[in-house]
Amino acid sequence: MCTPTVIARKGNIAVTQCVNCKMVNIWNKSILISFTFSQFSSFVDVTSELEFDDYLESSPGGEEIVVLATPYPDISLVFTREEWYNFFAALAEATYMQEIYRMVHS
Ligand SMILES: [Zn+2]
Repeated sequence: MCTPTVIARKGNIAVTQCVNCKMVNIWNKSILISFTFSQFSSFVDVTSELEFDDYLESSPGGEEIVVLATPYPDISLVFTREEWYNFFAALAEATYMQEIYRMVHS
């Protein structure tokens, strides 16, 4: 049975995990991204060193944004500066919480 637990929350971002399915979900308004545990930790590894200012682009509305590719070729994530910080703060917190859960449950 699926028993998702919220392991991080920041701004509009929530991260849940299900220890039965070994899946992590990132929820952001209309977007839901699902990872296996190992996909999630590789995604965190690959993205954690990225700096918003190194990838600045302009949105059609003239906002400063960063576009991040996903494993799905035609789908990208778009972040404002605030969304970017919330997103990666939530991922860092989720990773930390996963370590705690692993220590408690293994
Ligand atoms: Zn489940």
